[in-house]
Amino acid sequence: MRLSRYFMPILKENPKEAEIVSHRLMLRAGMIRQQSQGIYSWLPLGKRVLDKVNAIIRDEQNRAGAIELSMPTLQSAELWQESGRYDAYGKEMLRIKDRQDRPMLYGPTNEEMVTDIFRSSVKSYKDLPLNLYHIQLKFRDEIRPRFGTMRSREFMMKDAYSFDLTREAAEHSYNKMFAAYLRTFDRLGLRAIPMRADTGPIGGKLSHEFIILADTGESEVFCHKDFVDFDIPGEHTDFDNVEALQAIFDKWTSLYAATSEMHDEAAFNAVPEGDRLSARGIEVGHIFYFGTKYSEPMGAKVQGPDGKEHFVHMGSYGIGPTRLVPAIIEASHDDNGIIWPASVAPFDIVVINMKAGDQACDDTCELIYAALSKAGKDVLYDDTDDRAGTKFATADLIGVPAQIIAGPRAVANGEVEVKDRKTGARETMTIEAAINRFVA
Ligand code: ATP
Ligand code: MG
Repeated sequence: MRLSRYFMPILKENPKEAEIVSHRLMLRAGMIRQQSQGIYSWLPLGKRVLDKVNAIIRDEQNRAGAIELSMPTLQSAELWQESGRYDAYGKEMLRIKDRQDRPMLYGPTNEEMVTDIFRSSVKSYKDLPLNLYHIQLKFRDEIRPRFGTMRSREFMMKDAYSFDLTREAAEHSYNKMFAAYLRTFDRLGLRAIPMRADTGPIGGKLSHEFIILADTGESEVFCHKDFVDFDIPGEHTDFDNVEALQAIFDKWTSLYAATSEMHDEAAFNAVPEGDRLSARGIEVGHIFYFGTKYSEPMGAKVQGPDGKEHFVHMGSYGIGPTRLVPAIIEASHDDNGIIWPASVAPFDIVVINMKAGDQACDDTCELIYAALSKAGKDVLYDDTDDRAGTKFATADLIGVPAQIIAGPRAVANGEVEVKDRKTGARETMTIEAAINRFVA
């Protein structure tokens, strides 16, 4: 991508409305724009990051056996009347009427709709287990939308829903998502800690919030510090292996970890003082087993091996991609801007032409841009006629992991500089070596 032909509206000044660093940086880097309170456009640079986040989420959901579909944002109120949640949900639900005066709503979540899809076609235990997910916009009329896309009214959610014949089978489905979440957040460059969450009337232990430690987080959390170094389940984890997945769950729930809602002071005090971590955190995911809460009122049942009909046991599993992007920035930035983990960086490399219009600089940059693009890299080429200082500031602000800098003096020697955004380390090398650094 040539910057001269791209759309990346950088802000020079710090936006006053932004209270936390991720919001400030997303606005300054031209990633998002607020359209009305708590409702955002994702501008091209932001969209690139969001797409990469979603690709990783999707990859890990598929690995764990979940199947993608797409459900609409607008739902009929009827479904929600069946489950009893239409009245219970309250003011967070945006209620709309169509031209026939039929009550509709902008979905805040999809348990009812997915249960409807399930009951319309699945009749036998032989079709289980089943886990259906989508990545779709949600709307919740939050009382206090704030911090940009961290807590917005319209936001994106990956929501998966599992269906099983028995509670035991549902636990395995839960453990699959548990392990998939650990892998997902790790690939996004984050350390997320699963913390006990309220199960309400369902009871039991199968509800966890995945929390990233950050000073600007809205939740108050308490956990054992060893979680910070726990091993993540590997790429070759066998998601069908019941015992192996149970072992992952057992290990990751063996030490104390709870948000303030579930906090048990006495249990926390039993943790040796030096191992206690009390901090603030951002909830980036939430998984929940809720048994037959929706299948019973909505009549979602299958025939079991015993020939009888059974209400299916369900769970739901959410991740917030539009919250994850700012959460990644909260965890990875410096005074100059964002530092993207390679896995979600909007571009892999930015090529900076320090003197656009200078033949040697132009030729060198074109050569590098073409070679890296051909090798399948996402390259941003700053070919604008801005001053070199402005270009350096922009490259640092948008956080692309590697910069290749071509200035007249180095280019005259057949050389360029390669800068690592994270460490700031710069190295001078031949043009060929610079290309090979990223292609080889
Ligand atoms: P919170 O306590 O932060 O309001 P929640 O418990 O309402 O979250 P869930 O219903 O469990 O959230 O939704 C699943 C995921 O969707 C959350 O873990 C979060 O990542 C994301 N999410 C929820 N509400 C918002 C929001 N207003 N803006 C952005 N992301 C959100
Ligand atoms: Mg909420």
